[in-house]
Amino acid sequence: EVDWFSLASVLFLLMFAPLIVYYFIMSCDQYQCSLMNPLIDLLTGNKHLSDIWNKTPMLTYRAAGIYTLWVTFQVALYMCLPDFCHKFLPGYVGGVQEGAVTPAGVVNKYEINGLQAWIITHMLWFANAYYFHYFSPTIIFDNWIPLMWCANILGYAVSTFAMIKGYFFPTNPKDCKFTGNFFYDYMMGIEFNPRIGKWFDFKLFFNGRPGIVAWTLINLSYAAKQQELYGQVTNSMILVNVLQGIYVLDFFWNEAWYLKTIDICHDHFGWYLGWGDCVWLPYLYTLQGLYLVYHPVQLGTANAIGILILGFIGYYIFRMTNHQKDLFRRTNSNCKIWGKKPEYIECSYMSVDGTKYYSKLMTSGFWGWARHFNYTGDLMGSLAYCLACGFEHILPYFYIVYMTILLTHRCIRDEHRCLSKYGKDWKRYTAAVPYRLLPGVF
Ligand code: NDP
Repeated sequence: EVDWFSLASVLFLLMFAPLIVYYFIMSCDQYQCSLMNPLIDLLTGNKHLSDIWNKTPMLTYRAAGIYTLWVTFQVALYMCLPDFCHKFLPGYVGGVQEGAVTPAGVVNKYEINGLQAWIITHMLWFANAYYFHYFSPTIIFDNWIPLMWCANILGYAVSTFAMIKGYFFPTNPKDCKFTGNFFYDYMMGIEFNPRIGKWFDFKLFFNGRPGIVAWTLINLSYAAKQQELYGQVTNSMILVNVLQGIYVLDFFWNEAWYLKTIDICHDHFGWYLGWGDCVWLPYLYTLQGLYLVYHPVQLGTANAIGILILGFIGYYIFRMTNHQKDLFRRTNSNCKIWGKKPEYIECSYMSVDGTKYYSKLMTSGFWGWARHFNYTGDLMGSLAYCLACGFEHILPYFYIVYMTILLTHRCIRDEHRCLSKYGKDWKRYTAAVPYRLLPGVF
């Protein structure tokens, strides 16, 4: 059943999320990344909406060609090139892997080859930039708004297709969720793991590629643009490229682990993931680099080092917390966390068919500090990207504001689910680890 608050949020996002993306990108294109000046211009009558719209670059054949080639190439890498990285990279888990058990009891198999796709794409990018010169490395920046229209077309097309598929030819009908509310179903998705054929998994493909593979290329394109415009790349741009590059590489290095996260294990595939991965992620997660093209900030050495350290500590906490839970669950608690046997609470839950299962919730390591310390680390890293941009404008700080809302909401959503899953055992756990994100505060 969809409550009025969820429905209102869904309608708000469906109506305003595309506008928010447009507003941010347009502000950079026409107002040097000032979020206030477009509003002031409109409110004072200095400009009309039509003036702003008329100055906005439209869809071009060139952008459509680039985007089609990009998506086709990523589909080809995903579908046609079985992973070979796991054969020579020690510690890397790739190749065919199993996901978690779905509510209907299905265990999907995935071809984990995202790291390989990322490496090949970036090798080709550098080969072109330094050797072949088929296209300029600023190509993404130079076509940024026309590409945004293409990303929107794909985002809406895939979400609409997923909705139709959910009704008429679902991959697994027992894993479909119908609330009866059209808007909610469109946004949050009907099918759990829509697939075409045996291997093309919508969630894994759209979550990881084309958006996340593109993330680091987009940043490189911004760095190239700085070089073209100012004859140098600032240390803030390097910081953003390095810190976000680590985050992206981490994602692909741990793609098999990612199969066990909320996105894959609990979310259905609708507009939220389909459009979000095509448009929201590549356009708003890369705002810092875009901002630095218009405002090339050169940080003092102490500030740059401070931001780098904050980014590294955030990343360390994020990775170690996720790693601790993964290790704990994978070994069924037969492991060491910070040199000791992990502490935990035994819990049980009932599946839909009435079968009783047992599980464990860890209460030591970072999981003893707070119930979602992985989110805290993620937020520290996010803050570091924003700080690299200085304090002249608020636009680059959108990311930390957004991530705080996203992860706090996600934390509450997850805890709601865990409470209904584990009941009184979850209450024992929250009594043992009373804080969510920051010990002593929240
Ligand atoms: P988690 O990896 O924290 O997974 C939560 C689940 O873990 C719970 O539903 C529960 O599942 C299990 N769990 C909870 N507490 C414990 C415990 N004490 N011991 C063992 N298991 C526990 O959440 P996410 O999947 O949301 O996040 C994964 C990572 O991805 C995070 O680091 C997050 O920061 C990042 N992320 C980044 C985003 C971005 O846009 N940059 C977006 C979303 C996430 P069960 O039912 O199995 O018990």
